[in-house]
Amino acid sequence: MNLKPTIIIIEDEKSICNFMETTLTAHEYKVLTASTGQEGLSLITSCFPDLILLDLGLPDMDGIEIIKQVREWSMMPIIVISARTHEQEKVLALDCGCDDYITKPFGTSELLARIRTALRHHQQLGGSMGKSEPVYTFEDLTIDFARRLVLLKDKEIHLTQIEYKLVSLLAKNGGRVLTYDYIINHIWGPYADNNNNQILRVNMAHIRRKLEANPAEPRYIFTEIGVGYRMRESQRGAEK
Ligand code: CA
Repeated sequence: MNLKPTIIIIEDEKSICNFMETTLTAHEYKVLTASTGQEGLSLITSCFPDLILLDLGLPDMDGIEIIKQVREWSMMPIIVISARTHEQEKVLALDCGCDDYITKPFGTSELLARIRTALRHHQQLGGSMGKSEPVYTFEDLTIDFARRLVLLKDKEIHLTQIEYKLVSLLAKNGGRVLTYDYIINHIWGPYADNNNNQILRVNMAHIRRKLEANPAEPRYIFTEIGVGYRMRESQRGAEK
């Protein structure tokens, strides 16, 4: 019986593909590789992997097309791997349904952390709809979702309603990037106007002042420039 999670890598750059394959095989993943989009799509439909690592710049098609096609029938986690640093492209990939992205060059630990987070998030969605960890913890920060309490070194931090909503949304998605649009839709609803971008930024600045010892060098919530925000993964969730 093979219980190793299966990962399909779709990447035309041999050296990067080999690096990922070696790393993941050493960490108990079963790995299949494809160097073109067509090859990748047929592997996906025949093997139904647990996760896809996808390069956007493929020789025969745009990786965005693969995301769109897979999302028509499956919510399997997709992490985009790209040398391109264009924020617009990352946002487009996320909007089309990819779960996260990683920018080349990246190291082993970053790659493994992204995969672990995406797999766990997917399991939570499938296994216990709507149920997430009751408490978030990372270093000195604790969030008790049931009691709506935010503690820093055991001292209660007072957040406004909106600030609490933002922090708990980010914490429940710890380790994953959330785009500005995604956050705005979740906090202010789908009919929010563009001013909310500014309101979001102001609220995030307030949150940082309350949570971070040095807001210029955050420990808990990171800005992904031009894309959105990413909160540290809860240490509780990561132990599992
Ligand atoms: Ca490429």
